[in-house]
Formats: sequence, C-alpha cells, structure tokens
Amino acid sequence: LPAIDAADQALVDGVLARKLRPLAKTITLIESQREDHKARARAVLEALLPHTGKSIRVGISGVPGVGKSTFIEGLGLYLIEQGFRVAVLAVDPSSSVSGGSILGDKTRMEHLSQNPGAYIRPSPSACSLGGVAEKTRETMLVCEASGFDVIIVETVGVGQSETAVAGMTDIFCLLQLPNAGDDLQAIKKGIMEIADLIVINKADIDPSAAMRAKSQIKTALHMLRPMSQNWIVPVITLSALRNEGVAEFWEQVTRYRDTLTRTGEFDAKRRHQALAWMWDMIDNGLRSRFRSHPQVRRDLPDLASAVEQGTTTPSAAALTLLSYLN
Ligand code: GDP
Repeated sequence: LPAIDAADQALVDGVLARKLRPLAKTITLIESQREDHKARARAVLEALLPHTGKSIRVGISGVPGVGKSTFIEGLGLYLIEQGFRVAVLAVDPSSSVSGGSILGDKTRMEHLSQNPGAYIRPSPSACSLGGVAEKTRETMLVCEASGFDVIIVETVGVGQSETAVAGMTDIFCLLQLPNAGDDLQAIKKGIMEIADLIVINKADIDPSAAMRAKSQIKTALHMLRPMSQNWIVPVITLSALRNEGVAEFWEQVTRYRDTLTRTGEFDAKRRHQALAWMWDMIDNGLRSRFRSHPQVRRDLPDLASAVEQGTTTPSAAALTLLSYLN
C-alpha cells in the first residue's frame, strides 16, 4: 500500500465523515497533473477504496439543448426528496481543447447546486478523453466513499465521450428530442446500442410527436442486438421543464438495478468495467512511457517521415521503435 501522510489522512477522514470541503480538496488532488500530487492521490484513493461501490451510477447523455441540465436538476431534487444524496459529475473533453466548457458551468442547476444534499462538480480538464474519464472514475469513487447514494455522470453527445461514460456507469441513459432525424443520428453513431434507457424529452411541446418518436425508436431498437437477454431497453417520454416523468424515470432505473442484480449481471458489469479500466491505464501508461522514451523521441521524427515517403514500411518502423522499450 502507498504510504499516506497525516494531512492526507485528514482528507480521507473528512471524506468519510461526509464533509464537503475535504471532498472538494480530494477531487482537486485527483485532478492535479503534478507527479507528487498523483502519488498522494493514489494513496488517498487506496484508503477510500473499501468504502466505495455502494451507489448507483447513472450516465446521462444527449446533444446540447436536449435538456440535460434541466432534467438532472429535476431528478436531483426529486431524489433528495426521497432521502438520497446526489453527486453530479461531468465528462466534457471539449473543455480542454476550447478552454470553455459545454457542461458544468456554475449557472446551471441553480437550485440543485444550492441544496446541501447535492454535490456538483464540473468536468476535469485533462489533455485527452482518456485523462478526463480516468479522473471522473476516481472522483466517482471519492463521492461514493463520502456517502453519495446516486452518482450522475453527464456528458454531451460528442465524440467518444458517451462510450467512456457508459463504461463507467451502471445504467446509461440517452436523452432524445422528439424528432426522428435525431434518432437516426444516434443509431448511426452507435449510441443506441449502448443505451440502457432512452428518454424522449420535451414531450410537452408536441405530445403526439413524442409518442411517434417513441414507437419509431422502439422499432429501431428491435433491429439492434440486446446487451442483456433480461432487459428490453425502455423508451419513455418526459418533460424536464414541467418536471413530468421524473418518477417514472427513476422507477425504470431501480427496476434495471433490481432485475440485473437478480441475474448477476449488475455485479458482472462492474467487474468487467474495473478490468477494462485497468487495461485503459496500462494502455495509457505504455503509450506515455513510449512517447517519452529518449531513443523514441530521437528517432521517431525520421522514422515517421520515412514511413510517409515510403522508404520504410509502417511495421518495420513500429518494430524498431518498440524495440527501444525492451
Ligand atoms: P442541455 O444543453 O442538454 O443541458 O439543455 P438545457 O437543460 O440547458 O435545456 C435547453 C433548453 O431547453 C432550455 O431553454 C430549457 O428550458 C429547455 N427545455 C429543457 N427541457 C425541456 C422540456 O421538457 N420542455 C421544453 N419545452 N423545454 C425544455
């Protein structure tokens, strides 16, 4: 086990005592890029690990404007009313590129963010989606150790971020607008395949259009291979603005958890995710060791241009570079 110093032990104790300041400080430590901070974060995480795993992890995705923050605020307040504590995390890789964030700015979810039963954390800014995902997974564990019952991980419908969020949550929910063009987009991008629950939001605008979208999506889902034999992906309509359908949404989430717990798939999914996480870390670690290796740095530019010009083959260049790692 990594050694832990007194100050960090105080952080651990504060997190376990469900105090928000130590929680925020711990997450800041986890998000830091400094090597000494990384070592401390590892020690803190190891100490917290036995206290993790008891929440339900809910992924929520959808294009900008679909109503994610409106919905999450309504859902969060509903859950707090039921006696739960709710953490909302965001995965937004665009924030590192643009400097600004599509998700997670402070003006969103105003009521929820002021509620003592909620903790909202914007997306970490790391240089890659892999980095953002890793830090969010660790943050999720810290929140669990701090007694949050529900962890919501929000992401925008861009790039590979949906896959990353589906890979770290128990149930992945896709928010859709009530028009068919959108559904086709989601099918094309392969996002419907990874959804465990589909929500058609803004049903208040045109209820019959929402019903049409619902049956179209159900038909489309029939053509996809189900992820579980024991779960038919439900499609529900909802109005986040009017706070209608939130209870039904939560019913579906708990039915999902109960059904897959009974069949053993719930725990199997978490075990599988933990292993996939390890392999992600190995892949990322190897890649960064490779790229920072002195001989690789020295020879890579020449070999890369030789490959471009066709004077050497990609496989020969790759083998030469990889041999430096031995
Ligand atoms: P996000 O970008 O996905 O987080 O979307 P927002 O929650 O910011 O919502 C975008 C806009 O849609 C806002 O103006 C919301 O008020 C509106 N909106 C969200 N949900 C609904 C809904 O159920 N019905 C209607 N009519 N508007 C909604």
